[in-house]
Amino acid sequence: MPDYSVRMTKSVLVPRDKRCLNHRPAGGHPESPERLAALYADLDSRPIPGVRLASPPEASKEALLRVHTPAYIEAIEATAGTERPIWLDPDTCASSGSYQAALLAAGAACMGVDEVLSGRADSTFPLVRPPGHHAEPDTILGFCLFNNIAIGAAHALAVHGLQRILILDPDVHHGNGTQAAFYDSDKVLYVSTHRHPFYPGTGWFDEVGVGKGAGYTFNVPLPYGTGDADILYVYHEAVAPIVRSFQPELIMVSAGFDTHMRDPLGGFQMTEEGYAALYALFLSWAEQYSAGRIFLTLEGGYNDAALVDSVRTVLGILTGAQEPSLTVPGEPSQLARQAVERAVSSRPASTATG
Ligand SMILES: [Zn+2]
Repeated sequence: MPDYSVRMTKSVLVPRDKRCLNHRPAGGHPESPERLAALYADLDSRPIPGVRLASPPEASKEALLRVHTPAYIEAIEATAGTERPIWLDPDTCASSGSYQAALLAAGAACMGVDEVLSGRADSTFPLVRPPGHHAEPDTILGFCLFNNIAIGAAHALAVHGLQRILILDPDVHHGNGTQAAFYDSDKVLYVSTHRHPFYPGTGWFDEVGVGKGAGYTFNVPLPYGTGDADILYVYHEAVAPIVRSFQPELIMVSAGFDTHMRDPLGGFQMTEEGYAALYALFLSWAEQYSAGRIFLTLEGGYNDAALVDSVRTVLGILTGAQEPSLTVPGEPSQLARQAVERAVSSRPASTATG
């Protein structure tokens, strides 16, 4: 009998770069450099076995152009070296170092995809900022400059020839930018759980994709106060059958932690225990369908202490240091059950799964 008490340590590449701290939005902005400073200090003072740190390259223009328009890229490039922070939309601000930070964050996504698909790492989790999932191909939005996860997915399609990528987005906000980037594609299945009604207002049940992409966008809007049991219920009940039928070659996750009960913006009630169960579930899907290949990138999470604890929990799951548990205490609420029913019945018949 194999000895299951000896757990294998898996290799997790964590691209990170202190130049990502040089993106400095003005005026006490919640998406502050201190978020990453706290994460880097924690990893330096308490290293996690299996985690390998590396500095990412800047993303190439070619990589950015797979998702964003030339005019969009030029507008962000024009902020480089600015003397004063520039507001690009009511929530999104660029300082002199923002363009370079954004290039590194997008470059980290491509690097992470390369490392995982080459087998040099079991998984990857770039700890970079600015975040990306609100950035649309031609519209700056919601603290985001370049859409890091979309750029990583487009890189995996174009450079590695993948045909089926699953993007999971459990950030408290709907990832309108990622949805927009692949709305007409059947190669990228986009799944989001998010608070609704809430910023940015998108992500209703009936947003399911268009053309060839019909059925390849799956949104589960959830009410204020949603917690671990509800989130786990949604992924087990509604998402798991879709993942099984899609058979992804790579799983990518917009890892947002603004669903944490201590987050000042989110209004959800998740805990580290919930994240451990959720990411263990994602990892189990990767092991079942995509040869273990899983990519995470940091999105939201605005309580620095909660963010540190949450990221450490998830890295523990990815490396195997933390014992995975696929369940959490408590029963799903009636509202979560109704949301699942409605989301599943909103899927086009041709893509519906049992
Ligand atoms: Zn968010």
